[in-house]
Amino acid sequence: MSVVSIKPKTSSKEEIKEEIVYDAIIIGGGPAGLTAGIYLSRARMSTLLIEKALPGGQAILTEIIENYPGFPHGIAGPKLMQKMEEQAVRFGLKIEYGEVEEIKIEEDKIKIIKINNKEYKTLAIILASGAEASKLGVPGEEELRGRGVSYCATCDAPFFIDQKIVVVGGGDTAIEEALYLTKFAQEVTIVHRRDRLRATKILQERVFSNKKINFAWDSLAIKILGKEKVEGVLIQNKKTGEEKEISCKGVFVFVGNIPNSKFLNEMVKLDQKDYILTDDNMMTSQEGIYACGDVRKKLLRQVVTACGEGATAAFAVQKYIEELKGTSYK
Ligand code: NAP
Repeated sequence: MSVVSIKPKTSSKEEIKEEIVYDAIIIGGGPAGLTAGIYLSRARMSTLLIEKALPGGQAILTEIIENYPGFPHGIAGPKLMQKMEEQAVRFGLKIEYGEVEEIKIEEDKIKIIKINNKEYKTLAIILASGAEASKLGVPGEEELRGRGVSYCATCDAPFFIDQKIVVVGGGDTAIEEALYLTKFAQEVTIVHRRDRLRATKILQERVFSNKKINFAWDSLAIKILGKEKVEGVLIQNKKTGEEKEISCKGVFVFVGNIPNSKFLNEMVKLDQKDYILTDDNMMTSQEGIYACGDVRKKLLRQVVTACGEGATAAFAVQKYIEELKGTSYK
């Protein structure tokens, strides 16, 4: 495994000390980051992955993943991610836990990443920090979070056995999670702002044939009701303006995602929604910094695309490092 040693620019002999400079540091341990880790480690690049919580990203919140090739009957999200982590570590990937506090770029192209008050040096960075659930931004949502308002069915569904639940949203996540919630709840009402779902057709077939699920179409959840705990949701029909209360104990919000790119402080170019812009090789606007997975602007957000991008980013980084070492870091 190659580790570049650098000597700080100083004239005093006593002050000279060797420091490890990783070939690459990956930020984020979801499918994109772990795949990049597998590829870089197998290419014998010294690689560190930084993860703020548990490796696995949003995929560990998914009960079953049915569209990742190779698993004809699907695979549990946590299991798939645990296998990816195991595979990466087996090839030599190092993992550190912590939240990125700062990223600096030095004149000699070395990048410094600070976590847990400690600095890590690297020649290249792969940003794979993913995305997190968007909030509705309505009264009661923040106040009742964890007291009936949830963003994760696999985490919280068992708290709602035989209860009435409202799911807000009409995309793949909302429909998958609503279907999962029916295993616990008495009844699930899906509140969606249009009269048709965004979710993929196979999920629509399942949701429309599930007797525990009903719909409030063309409707917005405008207030979460309750004092200590959720007691209901106030919805408004967008076409008629009519308001109606739905009594429930739980509100699960699945209205899309926001990219985890704020910590970059605009170090790389972002689009209007703060997704990172890259070229076809996953390179960002900043030399030596690459991005992959859900934090990147793209058409399709899936485990399979995250993995493909992770592999591409890793290969591009490998080429970049080889070129760099062939010149300034021989
Ligand atoms: P999404 O596809 O962006 O869908 C968000 C849903 O929430 C849409 O139906 C949207 O309505 C609705 N919405 C957005 N903002 C809203 C608001 N303020 N109030 C009410 N409703 C609002 O997000 P997602 O379902 O989380 O999926 C994210 C990505 O992950 C997608 O690319 C999805 O395909 C992928 N994913 C895939 C799978 C799978 O393959 N099994 C599973 C989960 C997620 P409109 O439809 O009117 O815009």
